Amino acid sequence: MSARPHVAVLATGGTIAGASPSATGASYTSGRLSIGALLEAVPELGELAELSGEQITAIGSQDMTGAIWLELARRVADLGGRDEIDGIVITSGTDTIEETAFFLHLVVDTSKPVVLTGAMRPASSLSADGPLNLYNAVAVAADRDARGKGVLVVANDKIHGARSVVKANTTVVDTLQSPGRGLIGTVHFGEPRYFRGPVHGHTLASPFSVDGVEALPRVDIVFAHADMDGKLIEAAVVAGARGIVLAGVGSGNLSSSALEALTAAAAAGVTCVRSTRLPTGFVARNVEINDDEHGFVAAYDLSPQKARVLLLLSLLGAHSGTELQELFQRF
Ligand code: ASP
Repeated sequence: MSARPHVAVLATGGTIAGASPSATGASYTSGRLSIGALLEAVPELGELAELSGEQITAIGSQDMTGAIWLELARRVADLGGRDEIDGIVITSGTDTIEETAFFLHLVVDTSKPVVLTGAMRPASSLSADGPLNLYNAVAVAADRDARGKGVLVVANDKIHGARSVVKANTTVVDTLQSPGRGLIGTVHFGEPRYFRGPVHGHTLASPFSVDGVEALPRVDIVFAHADMDGKLIEAAVVAGARGIVLAGVGSGNLSSSALEALTAAAAAGVTCVRSTRLPTGFVARNVEINDDEHGFVAAYDLSPQKARVLLLLSLLGAHSGTELQELFQRF
């Protein structure tokens, strides 16, 4: 038997598997390299772990769907339950890596490390960041000390928690950040160091499950701005949204006419969550808007895209308004 840990790598595409006709050109196509090619490009991975690879899909993560999340959740559950597997790495595009990570963080029941990674430069680029990100992700997934920390995202030598990580810049390799909450740790050439664990509930301590779930409910995000009316909120309701997340101005605010539309949506049974379009800070209950009166839920420090993930999972169960608000404070 091998003494090395066994890490399963699930590939979904993204820039880490991207190819460009030029090593210095900015344009490229995501998801061109197969899992086999990604692993072969980094023979040093064999020093860290015994690896197995699986191609789940080959997309730019702008095309990520609920169906792929459900498939990933099932694969991670299956692999996490196998004695011979020590950790799981998922390669992903960075555009929606934060949402995929948070979804899995809330639904997978394992204490084994599940680590997402990606890259900002395609594999064919000068100074491609993918190979070292993959090496570091495998090192974290193979590390027993990474257990119980929920789903992690590793890039550019940093270890982020799934709840806090955001993509913060369109092009730089240091795009993934954990503003407000900080890093879980760092990883330098395969050596992880941890500063803390996640504070909110996750994985084994989360009540969310997608067992037997075949489709996720529709939840839309509406972005607030000056001179906003209620038309997009009304359109979301007509489109069949069961939930609406407001990316509000300031502390989750919106214009009076949009507020009227959101109140009507809530009264019609659509769960409405107030988040903010700002990168940091909390949207607390009943500050400028009386959530009790309007029937809204406050997202606290979840970004609109993370609040959307939590809301669509919450909508799989039956919860009172108070229970929903509690879920947004606990997870
Ligand atoms: N659009 C790409 C994706 O998310 C960007 C990246 O991977 O960095 O797949």
